[in-house]
Amino acid sequence: MEKFHIAIDGPAGSGKTTVSKRLAEYLGFDYLDTGAMYRAIALFLNERGIPEDDEQGIDEVLSSVKMEFRNGKFFLNGREVGLEIRTAKAGALASRYAKIPVVRKHLTRLQREIADSRKMVVEGRDIGTVVLPDAELKIFLTASVEERARRRWRELKEKGEEISYDEILKQLKERDERDSRRSIAPLKPAKDAVVIDTTDMGVDEVVEKIVNFVKENPKWK
Ligand code: C5P
Repeated sequence: MEKFHIAIDGPAGSGKTTVSKRLAEYLGFDYLDTGAMYRAIALFLNERGIPEDDEQGIDEVLSSVKMEFRNGKFFLNGREVGLEIRTAKAGALASRYAKIPVVRKHLTRLQREIADSRKMVVEGRDIGTVVLPDAELKIFLTASVEERARRRWRELKEKGEEISYDEILKQLKERDERDSRRSIAPLKPAKDAVVIDTTDMGVDEVVEKIVNFVKENPKWK
C-alpha cells in the first residue's frame, strides 16, 4: 500500500489532536496537524503587522516564506514552530486569518504536497471536504460545546495559561461560528464522513472505533 489518507476533521476540543496522534502512532502512519500550520502562519502575519484584509500583502509574504515539513515537524523560514502557537490567542488569530482565501490557497497546496504518496493521518477542518477529498477514510469528530470547553480549559490550565472556563466557552462558540459560517472551506462533515460524537467517549474508545473502520477498508492490507 503506497498511499492511505485518514482525514480527521471537527471543531476545537472535539479530541482531534489526541486521537489523530494516537491513531498515527498505532498504525505507523505519519501525522499532519493542519491547525498548527494555520496558527503558525497567523502569528507570523500578525507579528509582521499584516492585517487580515491585506490580501496582497499576505500573498506576498506567503509566497516568499519558506514552509517545510520534516520528520513530523513544521518549520517557518528554517525555524521550528513550537509551543508559542498553543495559546488561546493564537487559536483565535488562526481562525481569523483562516477565512482569507489566499491563506487557504497557500496552505491547502502545501498540505496536499506533504500528504502526497504518504500513509498519513491529517487533522483539520476541511481535510475530507477540500484538501483530500479522495481520502481513504474520513472521520468527523464532534462533542457538546460544554465538554469541548472543559477539555480546552484543562489543557490550557496544564500549560499554565490563566483563563476562565466561561471565557473559553465564549471563545469556542465564536470560533465555531467563524469556522462554520465562512464562505470558503467551512467546517462541516464531508458527505462520506463517519461522524463520531466523543462527548461521553474516552480516547482509547474513539481510536479503537476508527481502527476498526481502517481495517474494514478495502485498501487496507
Ligand atoms: O485545530 P486548531 O484549533 O489548531 O485550529 C486553529 C484554527 O485554524 C481553527 O479554528 C480554524 O479556523 C483554522 N483551521 C482551518 N482549517 C484547517 C485547520 C485549522 O481553517 N484545516
